[in-house]
Amino acid sequence: MTCREVIGGLGEFSGGELLAGEAKESKRHLARCAPCARYWKSYRTTVALEREAYRDVGPQEMPEDLVAAILAAWRPRLPGFSPRAWHLVHLLSGVAAAPLIAFYLR
Ligand SMILES: [Zn+2]
Repeated sequence: MTCREVIGGLGEFSGGELLAGEAKESKRHLARCAPCARYWKSYRTTVALEREAYRDVGPQEMPEDLVAAILAAWRPRLPGFSPRAWHLVHLLSGVAAAPLIAFYLR
């Protein structure tokens, strides 16, 4: 097994997804090849640090007052303009802006 093959399969090796023979070959290579062993050590450290960094970050609730402020800012300010009319305005703005964007990006 080459260094490239071992390094390329570290994700599967780490996740226990290699076939038994492949895992055994990887272990044997890592035991005898110092550069791959160092890389494997840094790989495990990186994964552990990543897990630690994201451990307490779960789904976050958006504060109610922030939601209310966003909705209040979004609501049409002109009397008599229904939300449906605003959707039409946004749609037409997008249609009108598309050729300008295409012109400047070419
Ligand atoms: Zn190697």
